[in-house]
Amino acid sequence: MAKYEAVIGLEVHVQVRTASKMFCSCANTFGAEPNTKVCPVCMGYPGVLPVPNKEAIRKTVIAGLLTECEIARFSKFDRKSYFYPDMPKNYQISQYDLPFCSAGRIKIGGDNVKGFSGEPLPEKYIGITRIHLEEDVAKLNHQHGASGVDYNRAGVPLMETVSEPDMRTPDEAYAYLTALKEIMQYGNISDCDMEKGQMRCDVNVSLRKGPNEPFGTKIELKNLNSFRAVHRAIDYEIERQAELLDQGVVLKQETRGWNDDLGESYLMRTKEQAQDYRYFPEPDLLGYVIPEETVEKLKAELPELPVQKTLRYMNECGLSRA
Ligand code: ADP
Ligand code: ZN
Ligand code: MG
Repeated sequence: MAKYEAVIGLEVHVQVRTASKMFCSCANTFGAEPNTKVCPVCMGYPGVLPVPNKEAIRKTVIAGLLTECEIARFSKFDRKSYFYPDMPKNYQISQYDLPFCSAGRIKIGGDNVKGFSGEPLPEKYIGITRIHLEEDVAKLNHQHGASGVDYNRAGVPLMETVSEPDMRTPDEAYAYLTALKEIMQYGNISDCDMEKGQMRCDVNVSLRKGPNEPFGTKIELKNLNSFRAVHRAIDYEIERQAELLDQGVVLKQETRGWNDDLGESYLMRTKEQAQDYRYFPEPDLLGYVIPEETVEKLKAELPELPVQKTLRYMNECGLSRA
């Protein structure tokens, strides 16, 4: 018997596939010559005004419907303030208290389904806290002791899916990510090409003595760039935290990075260094009302997901899973 139970929650960003960026008409592309897909809006010039991308909002609602979320009748954008050289406005337009989608779930596992490690993975639902829409930041390129900023990525629509802390094993996290990626791809929402940074994942892990104990202190691992890395990082983090807890150390909330070459996590910042984002409603944008008919129409047009297709073939045609 393992001494601790792990509690895992994931925050996943995907770039939404649209023709143009989130708040300007620049092309949403990858791999173009640096700083050629830019304008005063996405470069954060003073006095410019954002115009929301309807297609990005439509795709976010589709993502919500495919994950059984409630779709907000009224939603809005908020300013999240922080300083970073890749973000010239010193704020990111995001969503705070009224995201487009909330309270959904994603099914993982099932009869005869095996997880990434080869162990059986029983059926389970992972709760979705929220799905919100924001804008990506620019990309810093470090070379020859200098740093360059490429604004082509700045303002690309970015959708964040936050899970409930419902996962208990690295296999469950891996299966959740696989299911989420499948939803994004079948829903035509994102290509989720991790090599191109179109899908990025933060992992929250804590340990507790048993299933009925209160949650332990969570440690966040930032920017993992493959599902395999997520699996490894969680395994590592469970061991690391267990050793500390065994020594009687009281864990503090912190953000860590993952070095996949070394197979180690490292400290980035502690909770005391956490910034106050000072969210407030984006004054340059109006709130957004999603008409019931729009939601009903999108619902009627939803694609059948592979998991649903598999079950339909099994039920209707008597086929086995393998
Ligand atoms: P924060 O305010 O620090 O961002 P949230 O409550 O918004 O924290 O949670 C962020 C992510 O962390 C979510 O995916 C959530 O499921 C997960 N999470 C929250 N508490 C825990 C915990 N004790 N252990 C593991 N994951 C957790
Ligand atoms: Zn632009
Ligand atoms: Mg949060």
